[in-house]
Order: sequence, then structure tokens, then C-alpha cells
Amino acid sequence: MRWYSSYIDQNIPLDTRQRRKLHKHAWSRWYKSPANCTIYGVGLAFSLMVFMFLPDIVEAVFGYDTWPIRVGSLGVYLVLLITLYLIMRHIRFAPCVFRELREDGYDVCLRCGYLLRGLGEDIETCPECGSQRVPLGNRHTDRMKADTDDHEE
Ligand SMILES: [Zn+2]
Repeated sequence: MRWYSSYIDQNIPLDTRQRRKLHKHAWSRWYKSPANCTIYGVGLAFSLMVFMFLPDIVEAVFGYDTWPIRVGSLGVYLVLLITLYLIMRHIRFAPCVFRELREDGYDVCLRCGYLLRGLGEDIETCPECGSQRVPLGNRHTDRMKADTDDHEE
């Protein structure tokens, strides 16, 4: 399982402060998409409904209404919340981190975040997850090229 800062490839030389700043930018990017809040809202409402109505459904079907069923519903509710959080983090937040990294000039895979630096232009897929490579924007490619040129002189 991936923990907090590990969406940033370990080979990218960023210190803790820079990582935190990048995550902050990724969050503001995340909040700009209304779909994210909508999915969260629906997910939370659904989990809450399961929590509220599961004991009634169990009672209607099996005829029980005892405290273990209520505790079980709370357990199901918590599992749903954690699942929602992990799924959202993985499919909605991680790409924001990858986009921010790319804006900073790091050629990472948009799908898995693998650092693609040093790979030839002829390699069109990510060696880590096999998804199609998306070239970095020209602005950044030019900037990085300029940096390298300065270094060589
Ligand atoms: Zn990949």
C-alpha cells in the first residue's frame, strides 16, 4: 500500500518541504474539479444510508434487531468510508500529483507516476504500467533543455 508522500517517485529529488508544497498544489487542483466533490458527496450519502437502513433491512429479512447488527452496520459504514477514501485518493488525487510534477518539469507517467527520465524518445509506453507516454509540454521541455545547455558550458 502506498502511504502519504509516495505518489512522488522516490527518484525525484524533492525535499520534505517541496513535497508538501507539491501536495498542496495537487489538492487545489483536486478541489477545482467539481466531479471530485460530487463523487465524495454521493459516496458519503450512500455510506450513511447503508449505516442507517442496514439494521432495518436485516430486521425485515431475518427478523432480528439486536445490538450486534447495529455494531455491524457501523463497521460496514466505516469500511465503506475507508474504501471511498482510498479509491478517491488512488484514482482522483494521485493524477493531480503527477500533473503537478509534470508542470515542474519531471517527466512522470500520468497513470502510475513512474519517473520516465532518461528513456529514449522512441519508447512510447511506460515501462512500469504500460500506458501510453504523453510528451511533456514544450514550455518545460524547452526550459529543461536550456538548463542542460547552461550546464554544459
Ligand atoms: Zn506508468
